[in-house]
Amino acid sequence: MLYGALEAGGTKMVCAVGTEDGKLSGREIIPTTLPEETIPRILDYFRGKEIAALGVASFGPIDPDPASPTYGRITSTPKPGWSDFDLLAPFRESLQVPIGFDTDVNASLLGEICFGDAKGLQDAVYITIGTGIGGGVMSGGKLLHGMLHPELGHMMIRPHPSDRYEGKCPYHHCCLEGMAAGPALGERCGIKGELIPADDPVWALEAYYIGQAIVNLILTLSPRRIILGGGVMHREGLFPMIRSEVRKQLNGYIRTPLLNDLEHYITPASLSDDQGILGCIRLAIKAKEEA
Ligand code: ZN
Repeated sequence: MLYGALEAGGTKMVCAVGTEDGKLSGREIIPTTLPEETIPRILDYFRGKEIAALGVASFGPIDPDPASPTYGRITSTPKPGWSDFDLLAPFRESLQVPIGFDTDVNASLLGEICFGDAKGLQDAVYITIGTGIGGGVMSGGKLLHGMLHPELGHMMIRPHPSDRYEGKCPYHHCCLEGMAAGPALGERCGIKGELIPADDPVWALEAYYIGQAIVNLILTLSPRRIILGGGVMHREGLFPMIRSEVRKQLNGYIRTPLLNDLEHYITPASLSDDQGILGCIRLAIKAKEEA
C-alpha cells in the first residue's frame, strides 16, 4: 500500500509517496509561491499515484483540531496568500482519501520516533533551528496539541548579560527565535549565518540560548530525549557546547540517569533531513487506520 506525504514549508513543498516501513519514492519539490499556483502542482503530483491516505505537515501556526470549524487552515502567516488558507480542502475534494494533518515539527518528531534513533520513545521533544525555530512535543505517546499546538520557538528567554542584541522577532523581540534563529545570528554578525566562522563568540551565545530553551523544556515537559534539527544544527561543534550549557544551567537540580548521559539525551536528527516527510507517511497511515 502506498501513502502520500506532503511537507508544506514556507519556501518549498516536498511531495513523496512511501510505504508503511518508510521507504520513500518519487520525491518532488515544488516552490511555495501563491496558493493558486502551488496547490494545483501538488494535486497533479498526487493524482494517479493511487495513495491510500495522505499525511500533511505544515508550517504554521495551523489549526490541527478536527472539531474546529477552521481545521486544516494555516492561520496567521506573513506569507502572502497563505494566511487563513484552507490547506486541506483541495486535497479532500480531489483525492478522496483520508488525510492526517499536523505541524511540520510534530511530524518531524513523529518521523524520528517511528523511523529514527528515537524509535519507540513516548516522551520526546524535537526542535528545529534554522530560518525560524519551532518544536514538536510527544508526551505519553501522544503528540501534544492542547488548545492549538506548542510554539516552542517563541518561548521567552533571558538575554545573556554580555549580549546587546535586541532580538529579531516582530512579536517579542528577544524570544528564542528572535535571539537564536539563523537571521538573528546573521544580523548580529553582519554576514549570513552559514558564513560565520567557527571561532566567532556568537556560537557561545547561541549555545547559551539553545541550552536555556532545553533547560526550560526539561523543567516543564520532562522529556526522555531532545532532538535538534534544522540548518543551524549542522554547524560542527555546537552540540557539545549546548550540552555543556544545559549541564551548567540545570546545575544538578534534576537527577536522572538519562541526564547523566547528555550525549544520548540531546541528539541530532537521525534521518538525513527526511524526518519531516517520513512523519507525514506516519500521519497518513494513522489517518487510514482511523478512517
Ligand atoms: Zn517571538
